[in-house]
Amino acid sequence: MANPFGFLGYKRKDNPYRSADKRIEDWKELQIPLEEKERIQQAARCMNCGIPFCHAGVFYGGKSAVSGCPNENLIPEWNDFLYRGEYKKAFERLSRTNPLPEMTSRVCPAPCEKACTEGLNGEGITICDNERFIIDTAFENDWVEETGHPVERTKFRVAVIGSGPAGLSSAWRLNQLGHNVTIFEKEDRFGGLLMYGIPNMKLEKAVIERRIETMKKVGIQFKKNVEVGKDIKVSEIYQQFDHIILTNGAGVPRDLNVPGRNLKGIYFAVDFLTAATKSLLKSDQKQVEESLAGKNVVVIGGGDTGNDCIATAIRIGAKSVKQLEITQQLGENRTSDNSWPEYPMVKKLGYGQEEALEIFNEEITEHAVSTIAFLGTETKQLSGIEVVKVNSQFESISGTKRKIKADIALLAMGFLGADEALFHQFSVQEIFDNYETNNTKVYVAGDAKRGPSLVIWAILEGRKVAEKVDEMLRV
Ligand SMILES: Cc1cc2nc3c(=O)[nH]c(=O)nc-3n(C[C@H](O)[C@H](O)[C@H](O)COP(=O)(O)OP(=O)(O)OC[C@H]3O[C@@H](n4cnc5c(N)ncnc54)[C@H](O)[C@@H]3O)c2cc1C
Ligand code: SF4
Repeated sequence: MANPFGFLGYKRKDNPYRSADKRIEDWKELQIPLEEKERIQQAARCMNCGIPFCHAGVFYGGKSAVSGCPNENLIPEWNDFLYRGEYKKAFERLSRTNPLPEMTSRVCPAPCEKACTEGLNGEGITICDNERFIIDTAFENDWVEETGHPVERTKFRVAVIGSGPAGLSSAWRLNQLGHNVTIFEKEDRFGGLLMYGIPNMKLEKAVIERRIETMKKVGIQFKKNVEVGKDIKVSEIYQQFDHIILTNGAGVPRDLNVPGRNLKGIYFAVDFLTAATKSLLKSDQKQVEESLAGKNVVVIGGGDTGNDCIATAIRIGAKSVKQLEITQQLGENRTSDNSWPEYPMVKKLGYGQEEALEIFNEEITEHAVSTIAFLGTETKQLSGIEVVKVNSQFESISGTKRKIKADIALLAMGFLGADEALFHQFSVQEIFDNYETNNTKVYVAGDAKRGPSLVIWAILEGRKVAEKVDEMLRV
């Protein structure tokens, strides 16, 4: 397995980020891949540890953050092939479990690296970047398409509703297993939150288009601008397909119902990010039409979506950006009840926050603060936000109320779950752990089933639901 002493000889080196001052001038990817020689050295750091924790996603100690790869990726095996320069074999191992590695290797927060044995004393090895090298090499050499063709076709037809990572993953696997798959998507492009959610600088949209084209070549049918239940009746879906998989996501955003919520200038994060990406794609990736020049932007919510909003607002010229987060700031180091291999609950600076620090010369995120009202002008335009400091139980601390200037507020406070209307139309009342529902023709997977999560969970569920449907079709 790789080089047992590699981690002693080579230091961890991530794919370097372009400097914040340069990258805010465009919408291109943030990171630049290492050269091949350095990549092999990074693979050599995988140390033959005996019991790798990296390839099993575990919620150690009942904590809420997963550590290890949720998708059971065969990480030590592909690291070993990478180290030996056997890239095609590395790709073969990677693609056994992950049908969309070009997505995860760009956007996954890499819980595998937190569980890596080298992480006990170091920072873990560069699993995510290694994954990217393998899949990028596979696309460059045209190895991907051949892994998607079925050995033989069955007569069965399966509808997949929603083209996010769960839908794409299930379609890829079902097609490999020989079934005839059609994906329905209500948007004008495929990819779900990969396309309209995650911004271009984290995941260039050409990467998604390339996968869709490959999926078409292996026989998967795609139908866009079709909202199932509205543009096509559920009864027609039943007539045309043997089984139906709902991978419609968890797109209902958490709202903030405080006084002034109806003012102009308050948007949900995904609506804002979607509009920016649509505009960027319309201009052939050159610019976003909307300008925030002269506007004070406040992002409410301190997670990754909030970071995407900060980075997008900066690129379209916001005069100032502030971020409000209700939870307390995490410390610099692990606490005694959060030891390896648990996911480290420590302070981190997201890419958007780093860019804001560069241009505004200050950390823009304020923790332990809650929004209590939106304030407006006579013309019902947002002009400010009233906030109060809170303790760890989210109780207001008296005497801490104050106002912040805001022309635009972006609500990035997570999601409540799936739009249940589709479930009702398919008479789905119960969803079981094995992806089946009370309706024997209908299955549910991805965020629609587990709630808002990560791309890699959606991929795992897509793969598993496909195998479940295959099992049911063959009985
Ligand atoms: C802004 C943002 C950034 C994120 N960044 C990351 C990240 O960096 N890394 C990470 O791992 N995770 C990230 N996530 C989470 C990740 O994107 C989701 O967990 C993942 O996309 C869920 O996949 P899914 O296929 O279940 O659903 P989705 O990606 O939500 O896809 C559902 C699809 O179903 C379609 N649909 C819904 N109803 C219908 C209907 N009736 N007919 C036809 N189509 C329908 C929708 O239009 C959508 O395209 C992010 C989430 C957001 C919001
Ligand atoms: S998908 Fe994510 S967790 Fe799994 S190996 Fe890749 S980077 Fe690690």
